[in-house]
Amino acid sequence: MNRFRFSHEPIDEPALRAELADPTCGGYCAFEGLVRNHNEGMQVRHLEYEAFEPLAIKEGERILAEAISRFEVDHASCVHRVGDLAIGDMAVWVGVSARHRDEAFRACRYIIDEVKHRVPIWKKEHYVNGDSGWVNCERCAAPSAHTDAEPHAHEHDHASAHRPDSHVHGEAKARSSSKHAHGHVSLVSDYSRQIALKEVGAAGQAKLRSSRVLVVGCGGLGVPVISYLAGAGVGRLGLVDGDKLEPSNLHRQTLYALADVGKPKAELAAERASSLNPDVHVQTHLVRLDAQNARDIVSQYDLVIDCTDNFSTKFMLNDVCVQLAKPVIFSSVYQYEGQLQVVRPDRAGACLRCVWPEATRDGIVGNCSEAGVLGPVPGVFGTLQALEALKILMNLPGQLGDEMLVMDLLTMSSSRVRARRASDCPDHASRSLGSGAGGSVGTGAGTSSGNAENVELEFDTLDDALNAGFEIIDIREPKEIVETPLPASRVRNVPMAEVLYGKSLLSGKTLLVCASGRRSLATSQDLRSRGTANVFSLKGGLQALLRAAKA
Ligand SMILES: [Zn+2]
Repeated sequence: MNRFRFSHEPIDEPALRAELADPTCGGYCAFEGLVRNHNEGMQVRHLEYEAFEPLAIKEGERILAEAISRFEVDHASCVHRVGDLAIGDMAVWVGVSARHRDEAFRACRYIIDEVKHRVPIWKKEHYVNGDSGWVNCERCAAPSAHTDAEPHAHEHDHASAHRPDSHVHGEAKARSSSKHAHGHVSLVSDYSRQIALKEVGAAGQAKLRSSRVLVVGCGGLGVPVISYLAGAGVGRLGLVDGDKLEPSNLHRQTLYALADVGKPKAELAAERASSLNPDVHVQTHLVRLDAQNARDIVSQYDLVIDCTDNFSTKFMLNDVCVQLAKPVIFSSVYQYEGQLQVVRPDRAGACLRCVWPEATRDGIVGNCSEAGVLGPVPGVFGTLQALEALKILMNLPGQLGDEMLVMDLLTMSSSRVRARRASDCPDHASRSLGSGAGGSVGTGAGTSSGNAENVELEFDTLDDALNAGFEIIDIREPKEIVETPLPASRVRNVPMAEVLYGKSLLSGKTLLVCASGRRSLATSQDLRSRGTANVFSLKGGLQALLRAAKA
């Protein structure tokens, strides 16, 4: 009797009312939604309803059960039409029987509002002028914003009462009694603007709702990722971050407030995500991810988004995801640039180690605290991560495949670099995790051809290096160079990111120099791993040169 159903036939209201008949109930309330002939200034000729039925029925049944327990009514039922409907046809019917009228009204109102917001039902309007368009039903039902005179509402609302104990109430009356009963107007999430996209639709929304996404890092990249995924209605969001908010975070981590400084970021982010969208189940993991805890946490999710700013975590996460065959979306930002790479071990795609076989240590890209960053830069890349996540979760077209997107936001230039899967990719996971693949336990990373001893060179002065035939490239940032220029007669200044992204072609023997030798080593190793030979790093960097000069 308490059922949520779809009907391809006209709704048989008397039969449905008979189903709810119960001599112990003095109140019966029904809602009938009818197709009307106009919507948003367009003359509607007829319309079609479509539903994602398996999920819709589950959600509908859940709503009926909620109404029954919440308002202590005895019976509740709802039927929604699907298929082609003419003007005046009944699109949806809700019926409730209860001991008393008030509960019946309130439960009836609750059911229709929740059905409109939560059940994946989709409507195509055919207009008199020959056009047609898919329209989301949710926007017709935002209870706080719409009045009966609202032109958006396309259905007539009828609340009717048939039992002797009940009075006949108009819709407006029922609405106000509902307001008084709750003390406020119910607030529900509204996904209409994304469901209106034909690639998304009700089915896409349903997929988001059943998705579980892990966001590792609640900083500059994580903030837009968390905001957009919570807003989009991803069912379950896991947030990993062991750090507390610092004042210097705020220029790029706009989810937080100055008054929150000192509090754990994952908790703050969870609070904000829940208030943005109470539909989303948010789980926090207040840990720094390591190889031990990562596998347990990652295995609880369908998709992982890496929003960390250190490379050892990225590679560890890569390895865990390759092992568990989970897709993961990586991004790194550096000053005004950044890159985006989607790793799909579930589709036998290239992983991070296929692209960067040697570059495994921190320092390949300086982090924000060292190199500085403009807030919108991680904002843009985090937003791109959120976008790719939605594309993957809803299987939208245009997903970033086996390629890496590199963008310079200062020049607004972008390029896509092919990411080739290495033949030994299945073994990549065992590089840092050891177990699972059997053998090659703990070989560690960065221990092959890019050994530091092959790459690092020592010189007392840079002129010695020039005399030995090296071209010297200072890969430090312009600000550092102004503060302490390199003591050499011929030096090219090319920031690390440019060297890495291949904008400056290296020819001949090249010696890279940075402040401490850390960035230059990582950059040299990375370039070698991608086939650039004859690139070296000045061991100890400028600091070593200055020490040698004093000695
Ligand atoms: Zn790989």
